[in-house]
Amino acid sequence: ERAELEKLIGLDNVTRDGRKINVYANIGSPEDVDKVLLNDAGGIGLFRSEFLYLGREDYPSEEEQFEIYKEVLSRMEGKKVIIRTLDIGADKQVDYFKLPKEENPAMGYRAIRICLDRIDVFKTQLRAIYRASVYGTAAIMFPMIISVKEILRIKEIVEEVKAELTAAGIEIAPVELGIMVETPAAVMISEELAKEVSFFSIGTNDLTQYTLAIDRQNQSLDTIYDSHHPAVLRMIRMTIENGHKGGAWVGICGELGADTTLTKTFVDMGIDELSVSPTYVLGLRKAIREI
Ligand code: PEP
Ligand code: MG
Repeated sequence: ERAELEKLIGLDNVTRDGRKINVYANIGSPEDVDKVLLNDAGGIGLFRSEFLYLGREDYPSEEEQFEIYKEVLSRMEGKKVIIRTLDIGADKQVDYFKLPKEENPAMGYRAIRICLDRIDVFKTQLRAIYRASVYGTAAIMFPMIISVKEILRIKEIVEEVKAELTAAGIEIAPVELGIMVETPAAVMISEELAKEVSFFSIGTNDLTQYTLAIDRQNQSLDTIYDSHHPAVLRMIRMTIENGHKGGAWVGICGELGADTTLTKTFVDMGIDELSVSPTYVLGLRKAIREI
């Protein structure tokens, strides 16, 4: 089976009628780049940056983060690397952030909500990414977005970071900005959001949780946590249509993107990119080439 799939290395992710889909890979640490290259992914569609912050005593410095982003960007040799800014809170707890105890952490103080409150932490990460940007093709995406206001604030902060680096004589490269669409709110206002960013990446794990009101962590609800629910699939279709109307390209980086029983559905909906765990890249290429 693996040998069969390896014959697809070097080939395009193209349907029989000539539609090309970008197939990227998700990573959680720089070591995962080995698997990305081994499986011939076209880029990294989701670099979960949390690992930089988890399992340690204090905040990672700008320098530490810069070295990691630089390593990943360099190893990808110009292929796109989409770095997701810090997504902690909810299931991912980090002691030194001293986050408050919450009754409903999944709906609480997490991800971009923390970053827009702790601008120092946010700016350190953005500075590190922009400094690394000259070593490859970096893109940044922001998790748990629910409003246009958040994006406008993010873009102000990004502009400050760029101006500060430039003023200090540090070279930076152009960086595409996008958001994760993983809340029903973001789906409903996706046409407006698309006008403010260059891409969307649909986080089907959280989108399923928030659409169905089912805690993704609660194993006793696994049988009804259903990403194939028509409500979730219609959310995805709406996001793709509105994204395109507003001028953004649209991908999926949640687990559902790797589900080959839905690949044709996503292609029919107009999906531009699918980002999956590295080991699924070639299987997905096979599925796309059979459509
Ligand atoms: C998602 O929510 O689908 C996603 C890709 O992000 P995470 O699983 O890290 O929350
Ligand atoms: Mg998520």
